[in-house]
Amino acid sequence: MDAAAPLVTRFAPSPTGLLHLGHAHSALAGWRRARASGGRFLLRIEDIDPARCRPDFAQAIADDLRWLGLDWDGPVRVQSAHLPDYRATLDALHARGLLYPCFCTRADIARDIAASLSAPHLAPTGPDGPPYPGTCRHLSAGARQARIAAGQAPALRLDMARALALVPGGLSFHEEGQGRIACDPARFGDVVLARKDTPASYHLCVTHDDALQGVTLVTRGEDLKPATDLHRLLQALMGWPEPAYAHHRLLTDAAGRRLAKRDRAATLRDLRAAGLSAAEVRAMAGNPSPRTPAAG
Ligand code: GLU
Repeated sequence: MDAAAPLVTRFAPSPTGLLHLGHAHSALAGWRRARASGGRFLLRIEDIDPARCRPDFAQAIADDLRWLGLDWDGPVRVQSAHLPDYRATLDALHARGLLYPCFCTRADIARDIAASLSAPHLAPTGPDGPPYPGTCRHLSAGARQARIAAGQAPALRLDMARALALVPGGLSFHEEGQGRIACDPARFGDVVLARKDTPASYHLCVTHDDALQGVTLVTRGEDLKPATDLHRLLQALMGWPEPAYAHHRLLTDAAGRRLAKRDRAATLRDLRAAGLSAAEVRAMAGNPSPRTPAAG
């Protein structure tokens, strides 16, 4: 990538809690890169999972970022307001025979994995858990219809083998500072792209929106680096452009544990209430003090 080109970056939190220092680190990473390049910084609320997300947290995210001194370009994209976009992507994949309905419960899947392996604890595990054993992949059209008629709402899974057959040359992505990294999306198996209670998966929505919004550099935590393999596959299947990636380290607490939403003491609200200035919090998030040493 041309280092001088204006970048489009984004911060894409899920409103499942208040922002903590780790989020501030992530938001600052994207904001700084966009502003330094004369590009655009976007804020996207990834609230596709109604069971986990709350509008008051979305509002708190915007308020906390403003307090921190971060600004963003254009309107905030709130994913739950764009369900037809994700539906259209699912329909396009479905029309090409790349999705199939899956009626399995978690218990069904666990049982089928156990039955198919003599030593279940040795099951290969993918980035999102053990790959799906494929139980519903070959259900007949009649069997699918009968289950739907009986009121069973299916999830939609990607037929990974068919999808991979469409990208025979293999996939890779550009990680800043590391160069090209080869992808192995097969590790995800037949990944769920829509659930009965979640209209589209994180993986589908994030790649859709990065493409729609013209994101050129994805800055996010290194915990999401394995997901990039699947994101590149979805981008290739949909003909979407390929952004570059800059996965950053995760902040940890004094005990070396990754900061998580359970760490109330580290929320930006609490730091603010304790009297810290935005500049002090930015410094803590950007240049971790001994209290928040860098991971690994
Ligand atoms: N919404 C995701 C999260 O809060 C981040 C998505 C991304 O940056 O790709 O973990």
